[in-house]
Amino acid sequence: MPEPTDRPRHFIQQIVDADIASGKWGVWTEQDAGDTDAPGPAGDAARARLGKPRVHTRFPPEPNGYLHIGHAKAICLNHGLAREFGGKFNLRFDDTNPAKEEQEFVDSIIRDVKWLGADFEPATGASGGGLFYASNYFDTMYAWAIELIRKGKAYVCELSADEVSKRRGTPTVPGTSPFRDRPAAESERLIAEMKEGKHPNGAMSVRARIDLASPNFNLRDPVLYRIVHETHHNTGDTWCIYPMYDWAHGIEDSLEEITHSICTLEFENHRPLYDWFINAINEGRAADGTGPYGKKIHHPQQIEFAKLLFTYIILSKRNLRRMVEEKIVHGWDDPRMPTLSGIRRRGYTPEAIAALCDDVGVTKFDSMIDILRLENACRDHLNRAAPRRMAVLDPVKLVITNWADGGDPSRVEWMEAVNNPEDESAGKRKIPFTRELFIERDDFMEEPPKKFFRLAPGAEVRLRYGYWVRCTGVKKDSAGNIEEVHCTYDPATRGGDNPPPGPDGVTRKVKGTIHWVSADPKHSIRAEIRLFDRLFSAEEPGKRTGNFADDLNPTSLATRHGVLEPALGAPGPDEPMWNDGIRRFQFERLGYFCEDKDSTSAAPVFNRTVSLKDSWAKEAKA
Ligand code: ATP
Ligand code: MG
Repeated sequence: MPEPTDRPRHFIQQIVDADIASGKWGVWTEQDAGDTDAPGPAGDAARARLGKPRVHTRFPPEPNGYLHIGHAKAICLNHGLAREFGGKFNLRFDDTNPAKEEQEFVDSIIRDVKWLGADFEPATGASGGGLFYASNYFDTMYAWAIELIRKGKAYVCELSADEVSKRRGTPTVPGTSPFRDRPAAESERLIAEMKEGKHPNGAMSVRARIDLASPNFNLRDPVLYRIVHETHHNTGDTWCIYPMYDWAHGIEDSLEEITHSICTLEFENHRPLYDWFINAINEGRAADGTGPYGKKIHHPQQIEFAKLLFTYIILSKRNLRRMVEEKIVHGWDDPRMPTLSGIRRRGYTPEAIAALCDDVGVTKFDSMIDILRLENACRDHLNRAAPRRMAVLDPVKLVITNWADGGDPSRVEWMEAVNNPEDESAGKRKIPFTRELFIERDDFMEEPPKKFFRLAPGAEVRLRYGYWVRCTGVKKDSAGNIEEVHCTYDPATRGGDNPPPGPDGVTRKVKGTIHWVSADPKHSIRAEIRLFDRLFSAEEPGKRTGNFADDLNPTSLATRHGVLEPALGAPGPDEPMWNDGIRRFQFERLGYFCEDKDSTSAAPVFNRTVSLKDSWAKEAKA
């Protein structure tokens, strides 16, 4: 990920700066700085941490789906703060709802967070705070719920979920529950029965006794526990009551001694509840642990920021799940999906995602980001990092009829090509040039319009890194389709260079440069190429009709059977190493591509990540 830039400090950085100035969270000690004897970056970081102000953040996904590009923002923000201040970053599964959570999602989330470079592993990562599961805190959560009951701050309510919401009241009329004043001992007996499985789903719930008249409905005696007879991915059948988000989340943060609990804006009016719960637990507790309830617990600060939202894509997990289940896409990692698995498979880089998150900034106001900004961040990175190669997606044969003029007509000439004009250290490679080549079908026109600078009868073009060729005619099949474009080449233009001036002293010029691949099967590779377009054709999918499926782009996937230069086969020594092992390239004039996970040496498959910004025409003229 890129280092912090010199942009103005965003509001959360400013909060952390102020906390450090006031000493709000204290400093890291031998007890919590990490393993100062560990080798490598983890040990270095732990030693550097000692005596420094505490900053401890976390990313708390619910494992009920795959992460999407919006989550990347929360990961970059939380991990970025920990890294910037030499603190710690936790990955925590907020797995409190057994019905929707699965191991597959846990595994994919770990993979995606690692892919983004957010180190949460204490043994290896400089900011690794650890991997945690909310479900491992179920015992504590339960014990503290009983504590609240004893303090008169919670009760067991036998209203059904429907009745609870019906009796919630209106802004001017307070809510009601006939069970509010039930004696603590009775609630304690009932919560034990709930836990023991003596009651069916929905028969009763545990509610906080806060304020049924509060203008903030979240405070109208919210539910702490509900009965759910379901198997949990981590705790199995140990529990049949499960904590609600608001009850669970602050406890999770507190137990992990999180300092800044960062969440998205929709939780702003849950913050009073977050604070109420921790204060309620702390009531009657003392810093030194004297008294009936033990030591005061840590009280993190909840801070809300605006979600990352994009035009032309859908981000909510519920809808992404629907796309997978209804087979609108081919799985969670379909390269058209905005999931991190999808965009990774599409070829996007973690560096591009981090650069975009940095560029968008951190604010308090939800706003839609133009999807072009994500595409541009990716182009910027790949332009610098991706080696250039040649590939033809829609091949037509080009035959050089005077190839024998240069010697043996079956000869192969190895042409030198620059791997990356943006990076000299990327070096050069050799591409085989033969009598028969493939070019793109649309780089030839029999009857070209005026400004067509590519190949046409009588016209001359430069074959990139090859020779200049002039079209002398075409060969058609019985249906009139062009089978071969016939050309002569000028041996004086080797490498694509300008030829010497003619007898009249004039130097010939060509306006067009086109790419090519040898048509000799020994010197080229057949491949499937997948071209992706936006999944939706509307800026806000589903806005018109309420159903996003109405806005699907029917041509979001197109498959081509193309040919590649041989260097695209097995990875060569001059190919850059990508952290995630995905091979990425610029196919000259066509865009950025990566090798798909379906690809094999017998049947290669490449995905187009994003097209090129500049048209070749401009580049060729320059
Ligand atoms: P969704 O509504 O898209 O399914 P979620 O909020 O339910 O997402 P969680 O797994 O609960 O998903 O989210 C984990 C963390 O990621 C939370 O802190 C949440 O606030 C944050 N997050 C989710 N979506 C976005 C987004 N679009 N931009 C920034 N942060 C997000
Ligand atoms: Mg959520």
